[in-house]
Amino acid sequence: MFYNLVPAELQNDFDALLNDLSYLPEQAKESCPFCHHIDFQKIRQKPLTFRCKCCHKYFNPLTKTPFNRLVPTIWLGLILTRRIEKVTLETLAYELNCTPEMVKRRERALIDYMQQHYPKFHQWYTQTRLHENNMLPTTIKQQYIDLSEIIDQLLIIEKFPCAYCQSSNTVRIGQRAGFRCRSCRKTFNILKDTPLNKIPHAELWKTFIELLVKNNTNKSIAQTLELSLNTVSKWRKVWCELMQNWGYEELAVWCNKKQ
Ligand SMILES: [Zn+2]
Ligand SMILES: [Zn+2]
Repeated sequence: MFYNLVPAELQNDFDALLNDLSYLPEQAKESCPFCHHIDFQKIRQKPLTFRCKCCHKYFNPLTKTPFNRLVPTIWLGLILTRRIEKVTLETLAYELNCTPEMVKRRERALIDYMQQHYPKFHQWYTQTRLHENNMLPTTIKQQYIDLSEIIDQLLIIEKFPCAYCQSSNTVRIGQRAGFRCRSCRKTFNILKDTPLNKIPHAELWKTFIELLVKNNTNKSIAQTLELSLNTVSKWRKVWCELMQNWGYEELAVWCNKKQ
């Protein structure tokens, strides 16, 4: 019934994702999520709980998944489909009788899960939400889209001229923007000497900026991303400075107005 909202080529991913969400909470793990030992016993049926015979830790089917402790689990599939239907976080919070932060935290977990298991669906979902921000003033929206594209480039670009010998025969290494030159064999990081090098968790950059653009307070961002208030205020400062430096002045002012 939601199929018309998801592109045809992503229907299988969407089905599989919804299926995961309904079965994950009941499905026994194949091994202990802590030590990966396969010998464990069921302790309780409700809620389903196991104990590892090797490391003696307790776990349930959601332990060490992005959905750990996000009960009731029935909300997950519901939040996913309602968000695809373009229902706002605030409306969903009202429907579920919870806070927008609780909805945001679950959506964050859904996005993490998509990224791990359904990368194509993840890309579509995050891009759709990006272009959906019709409430933003045109300049802000355009600058936000441009900035997001720069970040995508920084995170995925495969080749970058060597910082030492300018050779283009370089290869990406590691998670962040590190490269190794095949000509002079030196390694370099394209974010070195930029403030971005001080912000770990590159996987959170885009979500962080989205939350800034949507004028969330530091407190609300800290809750959604499970970061400390200090970290959030530091990251906000760094990002707003970068926006200024990269010529997105209006966006910098917009993202700095509500703390
Ligand atoms: Zn164990
Ligand atoms: Zn080189």
